[in-house]
Amino acid sequence: MIKAVLFDLDDTLLRLNLTAFLARYVAGAASLLAQAARTSPAALALPYARSFLAIDSQDRRDSLTNERLFNQTFFSACGIPLDDPAIHDLVDYYEREVVPGYSGGVVAARPVEGAREAVEAVWSAGLTCALATNPTFSLTCDQARMGWAGVSVDDFALVSTHANSTRCKPSVRYYQEFANQLGMRLEECLMVGNDARRDIVSPDCGLRTAYVGHGRPRGAVWRGSMERFARELPQVVARLNEADA
Ligand SMILES: [Mg+2]
Repeated sequence: MIKAVLFDLDDTLLRLNLTAFLARYVAGAASLLAQAARTSPAALALPYARSFLAIDSQDRRDSLTNERLFNQTFFSACGIPLDDPAIHDLVDYYEREVVPGYSGGVVAARPVEGAREAVEAVWSAGLTCALATNPTFSLTCDQARMGWAGVSVDDFALVSTHANSTRCKPSVRYYQEFANQLGMRLEECLMVGNDARRDIVSPDCGLRTAYVGHGRPRGAVWRGSMERFARELPQVVARLNEADA
């Protein structure tokens, strides 16, 4: 029986050029950190790339949170300790005060049509609504992107971040940890996402996915636009519950 609906954020609730956002995020953070550490911003591009790749790896065996592994990898690559309180405060300030201004230009961030309605439809149906965004960023950075999507942290029972996750999508371990924190089984969750590779996981784990996008991925239990999902949610859930019964 479905008890929770988990939304992906980027290109599910929020339309944006994610590659452009990431480039802008790294450029801004690198120039800030370079000033503090008296190095050149260009010298920090590779450490950033390495750290994102490390947490995203599907071959991980460690039990570190994504934040810890990111910080360790970054430190090994350039000697800057992101977990030092002063550096942490600097990055937090950057994500709180500067990053929310990155929505314009080539990033072109705006809400996906029907996103707000879909989130409200989940709560109206008596289900729990959670944000299962790929956990590569802090909550502060997730909040900046949520704002661009016209949603906020208060709309969700749980938001995945680099601090509360030890894997990235499409690792089943990531989804399992997220469901555990919600107090649900994966069979009780419906994932909604745009990415056939990251948001649709092996059916053996029990998690089912509604796909919002233009593709025809195998393994999705539903596909269509977010506007349609918002309208059809009660029927989608009823159909899955009937199949389970
Ligand atoms: Mg996405």
